[in-house]
Amino acid sequence: MYAWLGMGLLATLVGTCPARAANSNTLSGEERRIVAAAAAENDRSIELLEKLVNINSGTMNFAGVERVGRIMMAELAPLGFQVEWRPMSAVGRAGLVLATHHAGGHGKRVLLIGHLDTVFEPDSPFQRYERRGNIAEGPGVNDMKDGLAIMVGALRALHATGALERADVTIVLAGDEEDAGSPESQARADLVAAARQADVALEFEALATKNGHDMGTIARRSDIGWTLRTTAQSGHSSGVFSAEAGFGANYELTRIIDAFRRELREPNATYNVGLLIGGASAAINADGVSASASGKTNVIAAQGIAKGDLRTLSNAQTERMVARMRAIVADHLPGTNATLEFDEGYPAMAPTAGNRALLARLNEINAALGLEPMGELDPMERGAGDISFVADKLDCLVGFGAVGQGSHAPGETVELPSFDRQIKRTALLIERLSKTPRDSGFRADAVAGG
Ligand SMILES: [Zn+2]
Repeated sequence: MYAWLGMGLLATLVGTCPARAANSNTLSGEERRIVAAAAAENDRSIELLEKLVNINSGTMNFAGVERVGRIMMAELAPLGFQVEWRPMSAVGRAGLVLATHHAGGHGKRVLLIGHLDTVFEPDSPFQRYERRGNIAEGPGVNDMKDGLAIMVGALRALHATGALERADVTIVLAGDEEDAGSPESQARADLVAAARQADVALEFEALATKNGHDMGTIARRSDIGWTLRTTAQSGHSSGVFSAEAGFGANYELTRIIDAFRRELREPNATYNVGLLIGGASAAINADGVSASASGKTNVIAAQGIAKGDLRTLSNAQTERMVARMRAIVADHLPGTNATLEFDEGYPAMAPTAGNRALLARLNEINAALGLEPMGELDPMERGAGDISFVADKLDCLVGFGAVGQGSHAPGETVELPSFDRQIKRTALLIERLSKTPRDSGFRADAVAGG
């Protein structure tokens, strides 16, 4: 009997101590209420998805991007968020939504990241939302208006149960993720400023899967563009290779590109050459994605151009590879010269211990929900994203949107059943993070009283 009494007392103690609930593979009473509230939000979130998808918000359709932004603001304000539309004409884009919910708590401050725009402009034939059973099709249905609808569903569930009152949450919804304004550093300044006031960032891009299993994204590769230009004195081709005439711009161009291929290879790094041209004259056209050149077989080429990308797993790897690329470029063939320029591009989100521990916290929630643990997605299988601009400042996890296929092309679809588990996971993770002391790491025993 006493034993039972002891057990009862212990349960009450543990029940009231946030440590256990914030860190275990089981749900507390409050968490069961959050899960029920999240389930009740499912249908509404899917209706919100349809509403958002049926508003065109191609990046360059500023009015459409703002309309989607204002719908999100109207969803968040009643939950206690201070909401703001920030025009971005200074960088040639529509604007972004900044929403803040200050609880003045001591828990982790959470930054939620998403975007309002899609790759489908008003002239795209792909404009409407269409549901076929558990599958919905439409522009941005999986990139990433699903993530916006899931974010709202999770926050509404937390609000309905009172759990949101304890949570410090900031939301940044860019209006130009698909085609960033320029300069990028200015276009992403609000996101970086918000990250300085946060401890954890969650990005609501699609949930990745592997062989039907949900995967956690703890790393994203960088993506920066480069332009290589070679020049050389022109002349009659009969003198090519001589000390007087030199090798010409085309040999210098191909020397460098081939050296990149042979000498630069590293794990997790890729560098594609998307455009290459050379001749007596060579130039990139105004659209930036095509080029024109002229040249005669008996004239040594004077100009060469190549454009490509560089994707790495960490900013340190980027620095190292940029230095090696520059060294290769500097080793000119006789009579030639070359320059290599890099765009700002997207930095890397490296697979840090903090990101990995954040996934471990999510897997505790998966266990509590009776879901299987999520493995780590191979970063080679995922492109760059906005979270990378803040990945060096806080712990990050990507993939709070839904499961889907075919993003960035007509026929893009989403699996609606994945909404249910994503709304629940998101709500519980924000709730548990709000109970995790700000200065603690993510180790289980670091939680207050744990
Ligand atoms: Zn996206």
